[in-house]
Amino acid sequence: MDIKNNLAAIQSRVAKACASSGRTISDVELMLVTKTVSVEDIFCARNLGGTLFGENKVQEVVQKWHAPSLEGVRPDFIGHLQTNKVKTCLDVCARIHSVDRMGLVEALDRELQKRGERREVFLQVNTSAEESKYGVSLNDAVSFATRVAQFQTLHVTGLMTLAEFSQDMARVRECFRRLKEVQREIRQQGLFSENFRHLSMGMSSDFEIAIEEGATIIRVGTAVFGTRPTPDSYYWPEKNKP
Ligand SMILES: *Cc1c(COP(=O)(O)O)cnc(C)c1O
Repeated sequence: MDIKNNLAAIQSRVAKACASSGRTISDVELMLVTKTVSVEDIFCARNLGGTLFGENKVQEVVQKWHAPSLEGVRPDFIGHLQTNKVKTCLDVCARIHSVDRMGLVEALDRELQKRGERREVFLQVNTSAEESKYGVSLNDAVSFATRVAQFQTLHVTGLMTLAEFSQDMARVRECFRRLKEVQREIRQQGLFSENFRHLSMGMSSDFEIAIEEGATIIRVGTAVFGTRPTPDSYYWPEKNKP
């Protein structure tokens, strides 16, 4: 695995996708998703210019990100956040991309109030309507946003989604379009400030489509760091499990 070459290849694909869709490269941030990736490899990616990182499990962030070589960087949190891990997550992560239910909103608010802190977060929307995916449903997204807007401790600056897992790129694209549409609807309601501009969408297999559909943050793991030892089902468990 060659992180340097992989990163260069991704960056040129990002540039191409931006050019072909009339977007500016600086409007699309590359998040390096480092779940299962070793501290050494994260350090390497950082030295190669990586500035934005994402992790999916709180426990893993705790285990890896206290390493002296990673001092001064905190990853964004992009996984399913259990309410009993809110405190730790706020300690070790930066932004949270996966705010998807009122129970979590309330737990975050309680902890942030205690700290006298405001935290940047994204709302996660289930744009594929697959049962296995977390995220507020398309139908509930605007009313959820309306409720979250009441909480001063949460600075909502974007939306996040995982597209349908499908070989059919038209269906994948449709998910990204739906997220953009939800963004438009929420903007119409004037719920958040002009900072509400992020669309966190697109992964190794579909980030070019996401860029074409307006992504401001793409979340790329395997295309940079190689195949993970754990199956994806470990990171996207069935909803009903705790
Ligand atoms: C793992 C993960 C990614 C990156 O997936 P790749 O296919 O490895 O690029 C993106 N978003 C979330 C939420 C993830 O957990």
